[in-house]
Amino acid sequence: MPRFFGTPTDVHVGQQFIDRRDLHEAAVHRPLQAGISGTKAEGADSIVVSGGYGDDEDHGDYILYTGHGGKDLNSPRQVANQSIDAPGNAGLITSMIQGFPVRVVRGAHRRSPYAPPAGYRYAGLFLVADFIERSGKDGFTIVQFRLDRIPEQEPYVAIASPEADPAFATTVVSRRIRDSLVAREVKATYGYSCQACGTSIEGFGGRFYAEGAHVRPLGRPHLGADIATNILCLCPNHHTQLDNGGLFIRNDMTLEGTDGTLVGTLTFKKKHLLLAENAQYHREFWTQAS
Ligand SMILES: [Zn+2]
Repeated sequence: MPRFFGTPTDVHVGQQFIDRRDLHEAAVHRPLQAGISGTKAEGADSIVVSGGYGDDEDHGDYILYTGHGGKDLNSPRQVANQSIDAPGNAGLITSMIQGFPVRVVRGAHRRSPYAPPAGYRYAGLFLVADFIERSGKDGFTIVQFRLDRIPEQEPYVAIASPEADPAFATTVVSRRIRDSLVAREVKATYGYSCQACGTSIEGFGGRFYAEGAHVRPLGRPHLGADIATNILCLCPNHHTQLDNGGLFIRNDMTLEGTDGTLVGTLTFKKKHLLLAENAQYHREFWTQAS
């Protein structure tokens, strides 16, 4: 099963769960023991904040979350250094660079006023805003993440679910965090290299960044489909230009500027194509708008 990002459709913010098994079965947090669900390659999709680390701080809308590793099994004390290469920590860094939303679950503990009195409570989706490596209270290196709660969550549609009706996809949420599984697959197909200019943006630790651009936009009124034949892997500049009507795709997959001149050609891998009708929809929408 591919890693699932976003809130499962039948789960709501504030929902209570009895134990880790309950969280696992609801697909809110899969691992039964680890606090972070994730890997460097895929990113992290969920964490549990349960006061197990003495350096954690829960401020409600943002959380300073101590990464994985180096902890004494029977107390909140650190007994060894943490590493940014431990899978969970590396996963959170990947989610930061890719803009993946992380499900946050709070477990019962005394030190947070936001924690439930018992069991676990789903706190919603957060973005990894930042991380630092620093010396923790017990003198060992910790990797500490800042996670910010995504404010506009009520209209948020769970992503990576191809069955979701794109008519209800919100445009409030940044496109960086709306990537579906299929958009991530298209980006992976191109190795995060822009189909318009070849740029691949390198981030920390060899993690690359690109955006999945829907040529016929999702949601009302366009009702474009969240399928590979409507998605391009683009750098943020070309994505923005396409979305803002400054770049058009001809039916032969060449690129045209606003003055009608040829400005480039999209590159395609063998296993991917863009349907010309989606490019045509995009051109006609902007032509009629002018
Ligand atoms: Zn580009």
